[in-house]
Amino acid sequence: MYNIAIDGPVGSGKSTLAKMLAKRLDFHFLDTGALYRGMACYFRYKNIVEINENSINSIIDEITVKVKFIDNVQHVIVSGIDFTSNLREEEISMLSSKISNYPQIRDKILDIQRDFAKEYDCVLEGRDIGTVVLPNADLKIYLTANEKTRAQRRYEQDKLKNPNISYQEILKDLKERDFENEHRKIAPLRPAEDSVIIDNSDINLEQTCDLCENIFKQKIANK
Ligand code: C5P
Repeated sequence: MYNIAIDGPVGSGKSTLAKMLAKRLDFHFLDTGALYRGMACYFRYKNIVEINENSINSIIDEITVKVKFIDNVQHVIVSGIDFTSNLREEEISMLSSKISNYPQIRDKILDIQRDFAKEYDCVLEGRDIGTVVLPNADLKIYLTANEKTRAQRRYEQDKLKNPNISYQEILKDLKERDFENEHRKIAPLRPAEDSVIIDNSDINLEQTCDLCENIFKQKIANK
């Protein structure tokens, strides 16, 4: 199976790129952040919003995570509850960043991600795909863009759902989540040594996707 890993910070456009690239190559696509988000939804459902070692351990054994694709939409089911419609809520963004610092949480979904990669030609998108989940991926992309561009993109996206949201609020959250992701002890966000780093601050999605597709095809041709 061919596996492509795309990692990068908040708002770098990983998801959109991963979806487009998967479609062009006729590969499957897995949004791994959605798995952390699904677990965060379950914590909130259980009224656990104070995240620490004790609160994680109090609930970890009852958590099961499943991914299902219905009409091409990735659904995340945690302990039997489908949380798909709640995944993108702002509160869930912060909560998922917090819980993702704990190895108990990360271990829960490591096999789901690896099994997916064994079963399908696929593009996996997240924070630690190239460094931890798929160290032997055929292509590793580290996608980034400057902070203001990323915040502006998030703002354009989020204001459609929440007209009261401000750019400043988004920039603040983005900085906070970047900091959490880059400074955690396990699986911190960083480019894998053998990744191709793409800064897409000044190129559009199509151009970024063209670039990735060409690099992938070259890699495969040279194998
Ligand atoms: O990518 P997304 O914003 O949906 O991810 C939600 C959170 O899940 C991130 O802020 C990050 O903390 C965590 N995450 C992770 N490892 C991944 C994917 C996401 O730690 N592979």
